[in-house]
Amino acid sequence: MNAELAESGTAKRVLRLAYTNGSGKLAVIGDPVAHSLSPRIQNALLEHLGLDYIYLALKIPPSATREWVKAARLLDFAGFNATMPHKTALVPLMDTLSGDAARCRAVNTVVLRKGRLEGHNTDGEGFLRALGDAGVEVRGRNAVLLGAGGGARAVALKLAACGARRIAVCCRTPRQGELLRELDSRIEAHAWTPASLRENLRHCDVLINGTPLGMRGVGETFADLDFLDALPASSVVCDLIYSPLRTELLRAAAQRGHTAINGLGMLIHQAILALELFTATPIDAERAAPVAERALAGVLE
Ligand code: NAP
Repeated sequence: MNAELAESGTAKRVLRLAYTNGSGKLAVIGDPVAHSLSPRIQNALLEHLGLDYIYLALKIPPSATREWVKAARLLDFAGFNATMPHKTALVPLMDTLSGDAARCRAVNTVVLRKGRLEGHNTDGEGFLRALGDAGVEVRGRNAVLLGAGGGARAVALKLAACGARRIAVCCRTPRQGELLRELDSRIEAHAWTPASLRENLRHCDVLINGTPLGMRGVGETFADLDFLDALPASSVVCDLIYSPLRTELLRAAAQRGHTAINGLGMLIHQAILALELFTATPIDAERAAPVAERALAGVLE
């Protein structure tokens, strides 16, 4: 596959891809999907690796997950990623589920092999690799997770599977936390109150924001960040958010001397893991990650 970077009249960078009738077909499905960074990342990686595939963004409405799966088979797609609102709806449509997808009850990567659908979830492993890049070990550590939605769920279950001692999930909808607690005895569910947050943070090694609070375009952020004062000095603070790269939470954590890790590493690693699955090609993440980062230069700030 050849790719060429061109400057349009509006100085927008456009990736032009040359592909053939025989190129493998990949996509991300979602609704909305126009904001997705996956095509930028994946097409840059495909070009870097010399793999003959094209990766598209396809808007598939919430009610059409099943129809899309039929279409993907018919059109001979090699695989696809899924974002909101399809991750859960895909689960019962898969022929097989990976351990992570089965545990999360959510699929973000589907591989089509000989007409069979393999459902995977690369979010948790992507997060773990991002922590590894920053030299953060989770085994035997205490984590506090804010929120219990899709991303937080994948992270909590992966931390538990990798030997974290205790994962305290603080969330505003108790039922969500309870559901997560039922999946692994290392996970505890707590109400999101100033008192419970402070209590849990006193013994926390890794604090992770799994809510959209502070995300660009969401308009909602933390009422205050004083809870950070309860953290031990050595704690690491992570945000799953990658836009902006430096959220208010991360800025406040860094000001207090904590190592602050944004969601970009997770985003890139989950994409690399998905591409390995789609193409059955081992990828050297150390070399591929900078390629993906360059593809996002100027898009994220
Ligand atoms: P989600 O499934 O909608 O879950 C959002 C969670 O945040 C829910 O637990 C929700 O609680 C909670 N929440 C929302 N607003 C809140 C508020 N004002 N106060 C307290 N809790 C609140 O979303 P998601 O897909 O997990 O995404 C969450 C964030 O993680 C997004 O910013 C997303 O971009 C990021 N993310 C990043 C990556 C990556 O690769 N870096 C991957 C996945 C997600 P309720 O149930 O009570 O609404």
